Amino acid sequence: MAVTSNPPEKMMFQLNLRRRGISDQTVLRTMEEVPREAFVDAADREDAYRDSALGIACGQTISQPFVVAYMTEQLNVQRSNRVLEIGTGSGYQAAVLSRLCVDVVSIERYRTLADSARERLKTLGYNNVEVIVGDGFDVPDSAGTFDRIIVTAAMERIPEKLLERLEPGGVLIAPVGPHHGVQTLVRVVRTETGFEHRELVDVRFVPALPGIAREL
Ligand code: SAH
Repeated sequence: MAVTSNPPEKMMFQLNLRRRGISDQTVLRTMEEVPREAFVDAADREDAYRDSALGIACGQTISQPFVVAYMTEQLNVQRSNRVLEIGTGSGYQAAVLSRLCVDVVSIERYRTLADSARERLKTLGYNNVEVIVGDGFDVPDSAGTFDRIIVTAAMERIPEKLLERLEPGGVLIAPVGPHHGVQTLVRVVRTETGFEHRELVDVRFVPALPGIAREL
């Protein structure tokens, strides 16, 4: 099926994001530009611009647009930033981020998801995203450090090792809480002297699990 866009639905999509409090014009414009229909399963294309999470392969989900916009806004991405995402899934969040910064490295524990997201991002022209099969609890040293880190799977706590990957002045956002239930989005800023944590809103994400997935 050809990828199509439906103007009235896209207008509602933007209106809904504004109504729910997204005010950063750059984030709103980017949400408008990135074709969510190209990131959802073919059977869900008609629902691509509804404000809900949708199922993707490997029992995972593409996040709700409002949550993608909100996390992106709270991350306060600067043009010169290198951004790390944990949980590539469909690649949608990575595509949004890639339009706002220099480079995105995105880590996914399912090879099937990583391969299809990499291919999709390449086809759509998001050339500054590197998708890696790996474990976000054990980010390879070779990946270096980052100005911004976004975790898109629920962690029971934020690993110290991940915080250490933040540059001074850097920001990390992660859903923190029990795997099956409600989590809280936590925003951590690395200051000269340590880490400042702030709780934002309640969210629901699929769990972050350790290790590369054995099944495809
Ligand atoms: N950001 C995605 C949605 C992510 S859903 C999007 O825009 O579509 C969460 C993803 O995190 C799932 O694909 C899941 O497999 C992945 N994940 C869970 N634990 C992980 C880990 N330890 N390392 C890397 N990826 C992980």
